[in-house]
Amino acid sequence: MNATTTFQPRIAIVGYGSQGRAHALNLRDSGFDVTVGLRPGGPTELKANADGFRPKTPDAAVGDADLVAVLVPDMVQPQLYRDVIAPNMRAGACLLFAHGFNVHFGQIAPREDLDVVLVAPKGPGALVRREYEIGRGVPSVYAVHQDRSGRAGQLALAYCGGIGGARQNAIRTTFKEETETDLFGEQAVLCGGASSLVQAGFETLVEAGYQPEIAYYEVLHELKLIVDLFYEGGITRMLEFVSETAQYGDYVSGPRIIDAGVKARMKEVLTEIQDGTFARNWTAEHEAGLPNYRRYKQADLEHPIEDVGRRLRAGMKWLDAAPKTAAPNSGAAAAKPAAAIPATSPATQEEAA
Ligand code: NDP
Ligand code: MG
Repeated sequence: MNATTTFQPRIAIVGYGSQGRAHALNLRDSGFDVTVGLRPGGPTELKANADGFRPKTPDAAVGDADLVAVLVPDMVQPQLYRDVIAPNMRAGACLLFAHGFNVHFGQIAPREDLDVVLVAPKGPGALVRREYEIGRGVPSVYAVHQDRSGRAGQLALAYCGGIGGARQNAIRTTFKEETETDLFGEQAVLCGGASSLVQAGFETLVEAGYQPEIAYYEVLHELKLIVDLFYEGGITRMLEFVSETAQYGDYVSGPRIIDAGVKARMKEVLTEIQDGTFARNWTAEHEAGLPNYRRYKQADLEHPIEDVGRRLRAGMKWLDAAPKTAAPNSGAAAAKPAAAIPATSPATQEEAA
């Protein structure tokens, strides 16, 4: 990279929650000039102060920046964009999202003069920070919605590198693909599918008279071992580790549980994501004050598996030592990717990242 032709964007991170904190800390450790924009007196302002930032109000932070990362909740973004971000962003600056939802579903129509990009780490913020601190990274995808400067893709990749996401695999995508696959993944498999599968398995064993503690180990605790093997080497690796009996049971019973009906309903869920039904319903739910969301959440929190789990985990001393929801405040970063990006557009930039 030629240091004489570099452009180092000044970055404003609006929001200091799951993604905001991780991005702000990682980018700062990578050498970027980072300002945090927060509403004064909000709960996360204390956190940003404790991490050594001097948060500004969102309008002031945005006004000074070459790149503005919108890292407040998706449902808050349209109003914040309209009232604070659009009126204050510099002409020709870059607007960055970590999820394509609002742009893809037309809730935000960004100003014509802006670069508009997406950098979406495929993991929660705490992991984005923790992986960065140990010199690894959470794989991220990036996309360009508007390229007014001619370097929007490079800006996205520089940001991706700064948060640690390009160290391994930065895959180029589109706002549409990221939005639809992200929503599908979390609904059908990661959050919705997995938690419902675990709850149903737990209920089945407990209703058949088995001890809830044993049911918890069988259907929830041991899932980590399986998922770790998936993560390391796919289903192939899982099959290498489990017994022949477990494999035979997998082959004959797995497809009876996750059958063609499940896949047909996955397609329904995907269709409702693609045609905007889910986005409309979620926006309406948010506007109505989250009545159903709160009810569903309460039901999950009150599910008997939570009570058993709390009691069992109290005896798992190793959980105290493992990093959980919040990453440590250490500013020590491992490898530091270059913060600057070329002002010109080398064709190899994406491959090199
Ligand atoms: P959070 O819910 O963690 O964001 C909370 C932050 O937003 C807080 O700093 C809060 O400040 C601020 N905030 C909330 N409302 C407002 C407001 N009206 N004005 C100003 N600031 C406000 O968000 P996430 O990090 O979960 O999500 C951010 C983006 O990242 C979303 O687009 C999401 O889809 C995406 N994403 C999230 C992932 C995740 O794992 N969470 C994974 C990948 C992408 P205060 O303290 O004042 O309340
Ligand atoms: Mg998601």
